[in-house]
Amino acid sequence: MVREPVYHGGQPPTPVPAAQPPLGDTPPAFDEELRPQSLADVVGQRAVVERLQIMLNAARKRKEPLGHLLLDGPPGLGKTTFATVLPKELGTECQITSGPVLSAPKDLLPYLTNAGYGSVLFIDEIHRLPPAVEEFIYPVMEDFRVDISLGEGLNARTINLKLKHFTVIGATTRSGMLTAPLRDRFVNREHLDFYQVEDLAEIVRRNSRKLGSELTADAALEIARRSRGTPRIANNLLLWSRQFSDSEADGRITTEICRAALLKKEIDVLGLDRQDRRYLETLIAVFAGGPAGIQALAHSMNVAADTLEDEVEPFLLRTGFLQRTPRGRMITAAAFTHLGIAPPPADPPTGRLF
Ligand code: ADP
Repeated sequence: MVREPVYHGGQPPTPVPAAQPPLGDTPPAFDEELRPQSLADVVGQRAVVERLQIMLNAARKRKEPLGHLLLDGPPGLGKTTFATVLPKELGTECQITSGPVLSAPKDLLPYLTNAGYGSVLFIDEIHRLPPAVEEFIYPVMEDFRVDISLGEGLNARTINLKLKHFTVIGATTRSGMLTAPLRDRFVNREHLDFYQVEDLAEIVRRNSRKLGSELTADAALEIARRSRGTPRIANNLLLWSRQFSDSEADGRITTEICRAALLKKEIDVLGLDRQDRRYLETLIAVFAGGPAGIQALAHSMNVAADTLEDEVEPFLLRTGFLQRTPRGRMITAAAFTHLGIAPPPADPPTGRLF
């Protein structure tokens, strides 16, 4: 029997306060509606899906829980999707929490005592677990026991609590921030990569059917090309195009409607948004294309340097519009071409006579 995820500890399901892609969040109701419900529903990431299928088959045959699994990759690529699909495939319970809300070991206890044999505990943003909780979780993951200290001084004593054998699935956007001991406790690790345009188009087509919207094949490709390799962004652009068509046309999503919708949202043909273009334009206008330090750029744009590093630069680096050099950020010739701005002459005159 496939059960719905359950939430314990008197806390509501944790809204995921993860670093979000700059194109915003999918409304939670749609996020759940569009999320694949089985491994067969998952599009792309073939190598990862095949390895997870093998893990599932083996666990079913041996009637044993899955080994702990760490999923890493940028936001919106399917970490939560994989983490919730696996317990559904096994017909076991799934509890969901995240690193930042587990501020002390006691916050984790209700999840541990409620975890049934073979069930899954999904910890999103596991790199943000405080050190005390991280240390508390080591014996949990290794020996399925917790050591609880009671009292202080002479009266202090430790209680050992035996837990059921369950599976921790951790998700992180920053695997480099995980400590080695925590990383080593995950026997299985999978990295999710950006998606091909064809896979994103397939996700868009499937999701338009789920939403009951009429969408042409070309419109699906148009959305996919502008989705920065990320299913969550593809979903957001689909939802926006659908709203746009409902408001401005007859509800069908054609290429024409799609282009008009994305123009209104200021998303260009490669998926750059206003913030991305502002970054490149500032680099050109204020720093003559670079090199420029991130703090100087952030001041000029009046945006936090972290925001630029987390939300803007990764995509510009991937598109080859930006280079990070030891001297600072530099714009590339491809960015000038994309923005339709003439690059400065290769060897600018110095203005000196001698
Ligand atoms: P993450 O946890 O990595 O931030 P999610 O699992 O929340 O990403 O994915 C965001 C949305 O993108 C999901 O709700 C789902 O609709 C869609 N999605 C992600 N990966 C896939 C996939 N491989 N196939 C189909 N849809 C996907």
